[in-house]
Amino acid sequence: MTTSISTLSSSILGPEISLAPENHPFRQEFRSWLAANAPGVPEPLDQDKRFEMRRAWQRTLFDGGWAGPAWPEDVGGRGAGPLHQFMYYEELALARAPYAANTPGIALLGPTLMVVGSDELKARFLPAILSAEEIFCQGFSEPNSGSDLASLRTRARLDGEEWVIDGQKIWTTWAQYADFCFVLCRTDPSSERHRGMTLLVCPVDQPGVTVRPITQISGDPEFAEVFFDGARAPASYAVGGVDDGWSTAMILFQFERADQGFTDHSRMLVELQDIAADLRASANVLSAQASASTRRTLADIWIRCQQLRRFNLRTAVRGEAGESIGMGGSIVNLFWGELERDIAELASTVHGPRGLLAGTEPSHRLLAGRGGTIHSGTSEIQRNIIAERLLGLPR
Ligand SMILES: Cc1cc2nc3c(=O)[nH]c(=O)nc-3n(C[C@H](O)[C@H](O)[C@H](O)COP(=O)(O)OP(=O)(O)OC[C@H]3O[C@@H](n4cnc5c(N)ncnc54)[C@H](O)[C@@H]3O)c2cc1C
Repeated sequence: MTTSISTLSSSILGPEISLAPENHPFRQEFRSWLAANAPGVPEPLDQDKRFEMRRAWQRTLFDGGWAGPAWPEDVGGRGAGPLHQFMYYEELALARAPYAANTPGIALLGPTLMVVGSDELKARFLPAILSAEEIFCQGFSEPNSGSDLASLRTRARLDGEEWVIDGQKIWTTWAQYADFCFVLCRTDPSSERHRGMTLLVCPVDQPGVTVRPITQISGDPEFAEVFFDGARAPASYAVGGVDDGWSTAMILFQFERADQGFTDHSRMLVELQDIAADLRASANVLSAQASASTRRTLADIWIRCQQLRRFNLRTAVRGEAGESIGMGGSIVNLFWGELERDIAELASTVHGPRGLLAGTEPSHRLLAGRGGTIHSGTSEIQRNIIAERLLGLPR
């Protein structure tokens, strides 16, 4: 028996009549485009090949006018609103499309530039971010400044028409593929904590920058240490105000914290459907007791995914009315990170001992999934923000 994609989507994602493709030409158009253009094969496990596939896919999206639907039309977007974006990510998930390669550019730097960037920087970088012609990485964390980012020590000073940057960043995702790093630096040497920082865009391919990949528990060198030793960037490459980098970073964090959960709830629901199929097929691998508890976990996670989806839908509807998610991004990030970890564990469990074999998709997913509760701010930090800033609880 074949299942049509619209039956499939409403059974996976939930019965949202108002979001059905027949009511939304945008959704219908993108679904048809994906049917003709999505690669239809999973991302390879090998990291270099995975990156290349994502880069090629982003170019295909760009050529089709689909790389950044919410971006302005003059830089290759469609000027679409939040509700269309919500549908866009759902369609990508249902088509099992790869991620785009330039996520730090599309999800973090690009939107931040649109809010506080100079016209020169917008014209210089936005089209290249969207087309994946130039790849960006995020240089915020330092060896002793992760959650406590305000303690960072990488510094930059103006030398004529250039910034000169010295210091070290760490955990910089996919820095080895990047053309530019957006680096949060201390630019006022007498400043402390949240004052006197600037966000600078620094070219990576120069003698003053050394990228040293770090291998993760999954076996992938997904992130890197990045050393700045007299690295140079044009004076005009400051994003937002000079010495006002903390405000710029907070704008960027709002995009970062909301992004992954917003773009991923439907990928998670698709993955849960696959896990349910694996669970049915693995009845003889798991004991009856293990199988029952795994089914309960599956149901629990599915409910949490649906909660995330409802929250995202509400955010999209409010976004249409001009409301920003603000600190609510921490709720999305917390839900997303813990779901990412728990789904990876569940996927491994249903495969029994085979799910732990090195070099297999479930074991890779299990180990890489641990990072979900750490990057873009740990779950503890998100809970602090929710408690103090959203609920008004005492510190
Ligand atoms: C897969 C992955 C990709 C990443 N990519 C990037 C990237 O591209 N660019 C980048 O700049 N960074 C990146 N990071 C770094 C990430 O942002 C930091 O790891 C994170 O902010 C935590 O900082 P830390 O590692 O220094 O841990 P620490 O801040 O030292 O925290 C250690 C532990 O203490 C807890 N803790 C710390 N302070 C508090 C507090 N006030 N209250 C309660 N608990 C607290 C934390 O929750 C954590 O459990 C990445 C991390 C991972 C795992």
